[in-house]
Parts: sequence; structure tokens; C-alpha cells
Amino acid sequence: MTSTTSGISRRRVLKRAAALGGGAALLTAPAAAQSGQAPAVITGAQSGRSFRGLVRHGTTLDVQDLRLLPTDPRQVVIRSLAVAPCYTIVRGALGTNAVTRAEVPNHCGFGVVEAVGALVKRVQVGDRVVVAGTSQCGQCYQCLHGRPDFCQFTFFSNAPGQDPFPPFAEMRDGTKVYAQAGIGGMSEVMTAFEEYCVPVFTDLPAAELTLLGDQLASGFAAGHARMQFEPGSDVAVFGAGPVGVGAVQAGRVMGAGQVIAIDPIRYRREFALKMGATVALDPVAEGDGIVERVRELCRGPNDRRFAGGTTWGRAGNAVMGRGADFVVEAAGLQAFPPKAEPQPDPTNVKTVLQAWDCTRMGGHVMLMGFTLTPVPFPGASLALLGRTIHPGQQGGLNVMRDLPRYVKLIEKGKIDARSMITRRYTLDQGRQAVQDTADRTIIVGVIEFS
Ligand SMILES: [Zn+2]
Ligand SMILES: [Zn+2]
Repeated sequence: MTSTTSGISRRRVLKRAAALGGGAALLTAPAAAQSGQAPAVITGAQSGRSFRGLVRHGTTLDVQDLRLLPTDPRQVVIRSLAVAPCYTIVRGALGTNAVTRAEVPNHCGFGVVEAVGALVKRVQVGDRVVVAGTSQCGQCYQCLHGRPDFCQFTFFSNAPGQDPFPPFAEMRDGTKVYAQAGIGGMSEVMTAFEEYCVPVFTDLPAAELTLLGDQLASGFAAGHARMQFEPGSDVAVFGAGPVGVGAVQAGRVMGAGQVIAIDPIRYRREFALKMGATVALDPVAEGDGIVERVRELCRGPNDRRFAGGTTWGRAGNAVMGRGADFVVEAAGLQAFPPKAEPQPDPTNVKTVLQAWDCTRMGGHVMLMGFTLTPVPFPGASLALLGRTIHPGQQGGLNVMRDLPRYVKLIEKGKIDARSMITRRYTLDQGRQAVQDTADRTIIVGVIEFS
């Protein structure tokens, strides 16, 4: 998407908003209560509101007193209830380099809507909302072509130099504060565009629901949304952090025949077995033999070529044809040396190649982890083996369709969100939550706001 086309549509929206009452027009809770669904508008009622948040600024990350700035007519003001820091933010959040822009970290959260801009339609004051890491506008080219996991609102928002989100708050000294990816999450108040907000109608605890903004929902979607695990199929999952465990749970719920979890961290392997993995392998102990080990586990009951056997040769592409029906790579690069067992390849390149090689001919592999260095794929296997690579933006999640379903699955006890929360924190312990995420001493940590 170019800045020109985005700029035009955005200007149109703002123009329409101005006609309806200006950039700080908001519907507040008492007004909503009096008028039911009618959008009585109280201008600027939230602007200037005081709250606290974890802010990455200068060379540090700490809790700051903040004041809310005026909000866009399509933004939603949310009082945060719970947030789980994502591993992908730890490098930026814990770095000691001087940053030019103060920012509340993270890109998901959960809370209750306290005010909506004049143009907001999707949510109402009082709604409890998951703020997802992927938007769903329903109007862009990708949304219209069935790929809301690539909603252009998200990708435009993340493009360098095209950040459409103004700062949402300021510190006591007047420093303007942005929300990471336009979302943030690690502050008592969030302002998110409605495209990121998914209302959920349930009594489930906020600490569990906040996992649907990113980690658990992304991992579960890997086996349910675009790439769908088939009953009785062989599934392999690289990485048993919160995303990988979400995929393991999808294997259990979708009825996979076996779910092979692969992680160097012992407690994560043990946890994956509790969450539905049928086998857990240590990639350090297995070394380069990990691929053959997975292929062997997926060999099936017979080797007979004309009786459905998968082993039909011992050399070259014939061997590469064997493996799991579905593979999820949810390991990602290692941003910091962890306090738990380190990854065999911190760049993740080797893991991606192993995930590829563990996939059977004609099988499916989803690449979810960040790998920032080029990955050399052998041309012959790319051309000949018919493996489908699925991109792992939130596991192919369709947030408005899928998150309400995942809520039902948690309610029915099919998805276990609670067990994934290793530790709970207050906002003042927020830095520790990010540190523990970086150290990989937890599956997932949740900051609960009082
Ligand atoms: Zn994330
Ligand atoms: Zn869209």
C-alpha cells in the first residue's frame, strides 16, 4: 500500500469526523448508559486523563505517570485489565540504547471500553475487548479477498516512516508517548483503533482472555484457521513457548494423531506434554538427527509402497518426501541468551530448515517465528516436493471470526488458557514481566491492572 492512497482514505475519514464533532469527540460511559446505543457525544471528556504506564524512553524502561492526549474519532479508549508481553518486543523494550521516541511496549491487550470516538461502530462503552495484534478492517483488498490476517491497516501501520498513529499520551515533562504498533498494552489506558478491537461476551477472567490478543490465539490459529490440522494427522511443532503450546493445543482439539513438540527447554517440553503433545524432543540432544527422528515417528504402521506406506525409498528426494503432515515453526530467533536452556541456533535459520525438512511431500508448514537472516532453501525441494509454506502472521487468524470461537473453547475447557500463565505481575512489576519473558523462565506472564 502506498502512502498516497492511504493518506487519501485517512484524510476522508478525518474530514468526516470533523463534520461530526472533531478529533476529540468521545462517547463516555454515563452518556452511553443514558442513551442505550445512541452515540451521545461529549467532546474531550477523556483528554487529559491521568494514568500510569510502562514506557521505553531514553535508555530505560520504567513506569511513568501519563496524561491522555486527544483521540481520533475512530479510536477506542480502553481501561486495561490484563496484558501479556510478547517475546517479539523484548529486544526493543529491554535494550539500553537511547531511543528517540518514547513508547509503551507490546502489541496486544485486554480491557473494558470506557469511551468511543464518534465514528466507532464495532464496540460500545462497557464492552470487554480483546485488542489483537492484527487488525481486521473488512474493507481493504486483503480483507475483501479473505485474508484478514494481512489486513492492510496493520501492515500500513507497521511500515517504516508511515506510522499513522499520533502519540497517545505525554509524560510529566511533556515528552510525547506513542503506543507500540498503535496498540501498546502495558499501560492502564490504551487507545486502539476499532479495527484492532474484538468484543467478547463472556465471564472468563481477563488474564486468560488477554492471551487471545496474540500468543495463544496465534498458536491455536496455526492449526485451525488457514492451515487446518486433520483428524489423525501427524503434527510437529518447533518451539513450546506460548505460541507453540497454542499450536499443540490445536493439535489436541483438532484430533491430530500425534503431536510432536520440539524445544530445548526441559520445563517447556514437560509442559507441552501436559497440553497435548504426544512426544517431546530436545533439538540439542537430537542434533542434526532431529529431522530423521520426526520422519521416523511419522512413518506409520507399514513401509509398503503400495499399501499406503510412506517409506518408498532411501535416498535423495524419496527420503525428503517423508515427514509430518503439518509442521509449525514457532521457535523464532533468540533475542537474548535465556536463563533457561539456549536454542541450538540463535538465528533460527537452522530451525526453519529443519521444520521444512520435517514436512512430508505435499505437506504444510507454517513459519511463525522471527528469523532476520536469509534462509537458504534448496531449489530442488522447493520445486519438487509440493510443500506449502504458510506465513505465520498470527497463525492466519481471522480475529472477528475466530476469537469468539476460541472464547467458547476456553469456556468449554477445550482450550486451557489458565495453565499457560506461569506468573502474574502488577504494573509496577511490568519490567520484570518483560525480563522473565526474555529469560524464557515462564511460558507466559500476565500483568493484571488493579
Ligand atoms: Zn506478538
Ligand atoms: Zn483490512
